[in-house]
Amino acid sequence: MMIHGPCGNFNMNLPCMKDERCSKKYPRQLIKETQTGDDGYPKYRRRSPEDGGCTAKIYFRGKEIYIDNKWVVPYSPLLSKMFHPHINVEYCKSVKSIKYICKYIHNVSDMAVFGLKKANEHDEVSNYQLG
Ligand SMILES: [Zn+2]
Repeated sequence: MMIHGPCGNFNMNLPCMKDERCSKKYPRQLIKETQTGDDGYPKYRRRSPEDGGCTAKIYFRGKEIYIDNKWVVPYSPLLSKMFHPHINVEYCKSVKSIKYICKYIHNVSDMAVFGLKKANEHDEVSNYQLG
């Protein structure tokens, strides 16, 4: 469930492919330890098969291919087990990444709240809770 693509040479027609490269930067580099970059985006530990990492055999376009940790999307095992969806979980370190998340959350907001009440009724607690 948390495998990206596979794109690139496996499939050049996926939506992530821009100018014959994966716009999501897959396959990712195999590294032994998680590193936090200056841009605030971490490079997660991705163990190679020689270093104890897992491989999996998948069927893609009628062919049997082996994939390794280069293709795994960062995820939370707990959330995946609870909700069974594709949830990408990323670690936020820098102010830049937190600003991005705030901007992302507020751009997609489509919530509206309304209520009916008497003309002079003022519910300060409800107004506070609704922000
Ligand atoms: Zn891709």
